[in-house]
Amino acid sequence: MHGNDPDVLIIGAGCAGIAAARALIAEGQSCVVLEAGARVGGRAFTTQALGAPLDLGATWLHGARENPLSAFIGPHLDHDTVRERHLHLGERFATAAEFAAYWRAHADFEAALANSPQTPDRSVMQAAPQGGPWDATIAHWLGAQINGVELGGVSLEDYLKTDLTGPNLLPREGVGSLVARLAEGLPIRLHHVVTRLDWSGPGVVAEGDWGRLRAGRAIVTVSNGVLAAGGIAFTPALPAATQAAIQGLPMGLLTKIAFRARGADRLGMAPFHNARRAVTREAPQPMSWVFWPFGADHIFGFVGGARAWDLSRQGPAATEAAARADLAALFGPRAEAALGEALVSNWGEDPLFRGSYTHARPGHHASRAVLAAPLGEGRLCFAGEACHARFAGTTGGAWLSGETAARISG
Ligand SMILES: Cc1cc2nc3c(=O)[nH]c(=O)nc-3n(C[C@H](O)[C@H](O)[C@H](O)COP(=O)(O)OP(=O)(O)OC[C@H]3O[C@@H](n4cnc5c(N)ncnc54)[C@H](O)[C@@H]3O)c2cc1C
Repeated sequence: MHGNDPDVLIIGAGCAGIAAARALIAEGQSCVVLEAGARVGGRAFTTQALGAPLDLGATWLHGARENPLSAFIGPHLDHDTVRERHLHLGERFATAAEFAAYWRAHADFEAALANSPQTPDRSVMQAAPQGGPWDATIAHWLGAQINGVELGGVSLEDYLKTDLTGPNLLPREGVGSLVARLAEGLPIRLHHVVTRLDWSGPGVVAEGDWGRLRAGRAIVTVSNGVLAAGGIAFTPALPAATQAAIQGLPMGLLTKIAFRARGADRLGMAPFHNARRAVTREAPQPMSWVFWPFGADHIFGFVGGARAWDLSRQGPAATEAAARADLAALFGPRAEAALGEALVSNWGEDPLFRGSYTHARPGHHASRAVLAAPLGEGRLCFAGEACHARFAGTTGGAWLSGETAARISG
């Protein structure tokens, strides 16, 4: 600390920023976290708007055995132990035998990817089985519905490096509430949009319409969507390799939609069950749904990839209408009678995020390491989900990368 200047400025109070602040303070360093929004947590955000905890962003703690957030979890459930999956074939739900065939094809699809040569890097789709009866449905699920982007736009090497295996824990309070708890007591300044960062040295200076703040070093944790859109002007400009890494790691989009029950009808679905539709000519980009988590009277679902971007640009009413149509295809008119008030996330259009999480473009599998490399003798570090190779795209990856950046700059 020089005068009143903190040792480290952290830009963004999502998982990476919170983890970095905690690590720095634990090491006896001073820091200030500048957060543009009105709340902490970033893409981990729990709302009570439908009467029970509902995550509009991160939902599961994936890879729970190695996930750093597992250490802080309160009451929770391992979703894989309580969920039953239902697959709709266009006119009816699949029988147990049909579902077993689909699930075998799923395992074969993933094995084909894992056993495929990774060099030179190419798109996941180029290595994917195609033409089998379930392949289009599996590709849609692993691409748009999980990665927020169609598999044709994703680097195979990066995809295979990323670990999204279970256990997948659902905290009862919501992931956003869990993360917000971990920010309690930290020196976070809300409503502080950073528009400019001078890292020409010595030290760094952050600027916004709130004023200026100087520190020894900066850790920038804003999303790659914000960086790619030029949300922060850097002086000097970022090195070409860092700029290329940002371009190589674009944001996908996963939009979450939730509906509250109007009455007692639970659509024949038990709490935590999943339903998704097979890809058909009539439904090339279907959604997926989770019912009544922890017995709450809401359901939530996802639309991802190109269709999510398209709906996001049209606005929440268009997304809600598309979601109601998807549910009507599953349950007929009963869905409209059963489901009332809706909530739609806005990660795509929100200028503080501009997407849900990153993927690497084909040929750009090395970009995460490039982005995570410290600049200016450690004066400037990037952290966040984009910077972690193994747990890319997740809260756990963001958290670990924040801790790493704190150590590098410390
Ligand atoms: C719909 C959805 C579902 C998801 N599901 C899961 C899941 O189940 N499991 C999982 O692990 N992960 C999931 N994720 C991903 C996870 O939420 C993110 O990977 C993680 O939260 C990212 O954390 P971060 O710290 O890298 O970035 P962020 O959370 O984006 O934090 C960056 C912060 O910077 C702030 N900011 C932006 N611009 C500025 C500026 N100019 N000045 C100051 N502050 C600024 C933002 O407001 C934000 O608070 C999901 C995400 C979405 C959107």
